[in-house]
Amino acid sequence: MAYLRCPECLTTNTLKKTEAPVAICTACEFAVGHYYFDGRFGDELETFIKDENSRLKKIREKDVREHRKHQQGASNHIGSDAS
Ligand SMILES: [Zn+2]
Repeated sequence: MAYLRCPECLTTNTLKKTEAPVAICTACEFAVGHYYFDGRFGDELETFIKDENSRLKKIREKDVREHRKHQQGASNHIGSDAS
């Protein structure tokens, strides 16, 4: 399996190795396959995927923290489970 984190929406897409190079993000339809695989092969590709994953993960963690901060004062966020 291949794990490609989308640089647009930061969702991790879990893919079969054969599907990864043409993969589209399941959340936002960004062409993650092209983003990671275009012009890269072997070790360079592996390293790029790993580096991007940790870079994007940090962005996401920061996002989540700031999002939580926002929510503490506001109850009108989308996806609220209040009914
Ligand atoms: Zn995406």
